[in-house]
Amino acid sequence: MEFTLDLLENSYDYISESLMYYKEYCYFETHDPDRDDVVLKRKWKTTFVLLTQGIELLVKEALSRINSQLVFENIDIKNNDNSKTISFAKAFDRLLYLDDSKLKNVDIDFIKKCINVRNSCIHYKIKMNSIEIKQKYCKLFEQYLLLHKNIIGSNYNNDEYSDQIYDIKIKAKDFVVYRGNEYTKKELEEYKKQFNDSQELCYAVSKKEAYERVKYGEEYKIYNILGYDIDVDSCLYCGDCLAKIGEYHDLGCDWELCPKCGNQLISCECMSEYCDLEYIQEKNIKLSKGILVENRKDDNKC
Ligand SMILES: [Zn+2]
Ligand SMILES: [Zn+2]
Repeated sequence: MEFTLDLLENSYDYISESLMYYKEYCYFETHDPDRDDVVLKRKWKTTFVLLTQGIELLVKEALSRINSQLVFENIDIKNNDNSKTISFAKAFDRLLYLDDSKLKNVDIDFIKKCINVRNSCIHYKIKMNSIEIKQKYCKLFEQYLLLHKNIIGSNYNNDEYSDQIYDIKIKAKDFVVYRGNEYTKKELEEYKKQFNDSQELCYAVSKKEAYERVKYGEEYKIYNILGYDIDVDSCLYCGDCLAKIGEYHDLGCDWELCPKCGNQLISCECMSEYCDLEYIQEKNIKLSKGILVENRKDDNKC
């Protein structure tokens, strides 16, 4: 089967491929160095390069709509399929000179910086940071959408990857990373408020007895006490609620252990509520030792 693809179809293909990579490897990712997988992070290279290819072809499509010869370096000779075409940067400059309306509101300097990143990815040694490359990618994708509207006269549409495009458009404008997790600014504010509130509630109450909650990082002590053969990773942040070692888990965290029985707190049903010291004193609740204190070795007692 033979088929021919024009510049625009080629551009769409590269963009779809880039979105396929984005969906597969970059859509849900952590930036936590303890949990990062460098093999997956390397996929960012192809994801980014494919997007720049799509943009280059779209800009060349704009030139060829003015005159098909304009995509070639030498426009004073009769060009054919084997003739040398212009570089990405030159295509921009030529379009800017011939019809700058096609680049209206487009951040040309930013795109040119991204072209340099693309060139480094392909030809040189490059140091990448998954947060920075994601920020660049999302902003660059936004530039593709703008260019598409200017050049083709309609919005770019891709039903197969509409969720990813929606995600990219949000991240282009509002993207922060905290403890390796991605948020919008508002989401992060809400998370921090809820998390800080949970740090005040240092106790869990079971039948009128209060126990100090088990902090993230203390799990291995309980597993040792119970004789469980469970590997505990030593990541800086909890994999579920992002508590740092030494902090209480966020309320309802899957990883929090029960201070009384040592099993998963949300499923053991020992505890009925969380509270602070003030509440314990007010309600005259008895303070109990809990599994960790009771089993503390003599040399660790203060
Ligand atoms: Zn947690
Ligand atoms: Zn329990």
